[in-house]
Amino acid sequence: MLAVGNIIYAILMAGYLHTGTADASIRVWTWAKAVEGVAYFAFWLRPELSPTFALLIPNGLLIAAAVGQTISYCMALGYRWRPWLIVLAVVAELLLAGAVMMQVSLPQLAVLMSLIIAVLCGLAAFILLRDWSKLVLLRCVIGIPNLLISVAFLARAWVGANGGTLTVFTPSPTQTMVYLGGYLLLIVNGLGFLLLSKQKDERQLHALATTDSLTGLINRHAFMQEAERARAQAKRSGRPLALMVVDIDHFKQFNDRHGHALGDQALRMFVEATGQTLRAHDLMGRLGGEEFAVLLPGTAILEAMDTAERLRHTAAAAAGGVTDRSYSMTVSIGVAQLLDAETVGEALVRADRALHRAKRNGRNRVEAHAVHLAPFTPDGLGAAPGASSSD
Ligand code: GH3
Ligand code: MG
Ligand code: MG
Repeated sequence: MLAVGNIIYAILMAGYLHTGTADASIRVWTWAKAVEGVAYFAFWLRPELSPTFALLIPNGLLIAAAVGQTISYCMALGYRWRPWLIVLAVVAELLLAGAVMMQVSLPQLAVLMSLIIAVLCGLAAFILLRDWSKLVLLRCVIGIPNLLISVAFLARAWVGANGGTLTVFTPSPTQTMVYLGGYLLLIVNGLGFLLLSKQKDERQLHALATTDSLTGLINRHAFMQEAERARAQAKRSGRPLALMVVDIDHFKQFNDRHGHALGDQALRMFVEATGQTLRAHDLMGRLGGEEFAVLLPGTAILEAMDTAERLRHTAAAAAGGVTDRSYSMTVSIGVAQLLDAETVGEALVRADRALHRAKRNGRNRVEAHAVHLAPFTPDGLGAAPGASSSD
């Protein structure tokens, strides 16, 4: 059952790998499962093999499979312990070969193998359970059975060392426990590893879907979601919330003059520099192209305009290093403070309107849409100019 189960599992995984999308840890895992299946098959074939091979092949393959699975867990969870695990595998295989060459008795060999498997399962459990800060239920559900199996194999070694029967095909409670353990690991590790990989892929996909790859900022969609959350929080706490829309001036000209690659670099430098002028709980996102939005929790309009001024000065200093020619990046900024009954989208429209006024009034300046001077009308009619500050 264990041979067939592991081999079928490996064949299924090979079918999945064939799509070419899986990462390296799944590839190692598939091989390890195939080797484990062959190892059990070799145990079954033992009467057909010469005495030395009958001991070396199944046990040697089992060690390789267990180490392969532990390496896969390390790769999937981001630990760089592969070289040490390979050293451990070599040591275990040499111990096995030494014991076989020295013709130790079968019970002694069973004790040695039990200890090796206990160490390898214990190591897998340790890798899964060691980081308490990242300990999710799934890791516990996989780690704890591995730990139990490790303890069970230690018990088997202890029984063997005290004269108990450990021969693979002799029925005994210890042997039943070993087969049950193997079956449990087939299910727990087989499914558990795939679920861990799925969780990792989901995290990566989420990061890809919400992050702008050029600047590392969150994208428009994620910004709107975060901003709505901040708005609900501001409403509960009764604190003000402001936002600004920042657009780099004449950026098309910059690209035309210096090329798109330097343009990209300038965008990255701009984001890095402005990030340093903002507070830790301010939230910056890339709305698209050379346009950014910044959310300022706990900030009213006048303070937001001060922040915008600071950001404008920072931008001017930021991208100078990108080109040899002295280039000074300027930005235009529109600022708005959220109203009680307003959505972030509506406030963004008002900030955008202020931004357009900043562009019309000569760029490189901050304008605010201040509703206490003129109420906002959704169709845009009747909105009088708000407070403005410029050079
Ligand atoms: P304005 O002062 O009116 O904002 O002028 P502008 O040239 O900045 O605005 P416009 O909307 O005409 O052009 C925006 C330019 O931004 C066009 C495009 O070349 C550039 N741009 C947008 N996204 C990227 C990007 O990811 N990388 C680079 N290098 N350039 C970008
Ligand atoms: Mg622009
Ligand atoms: Mg623009």
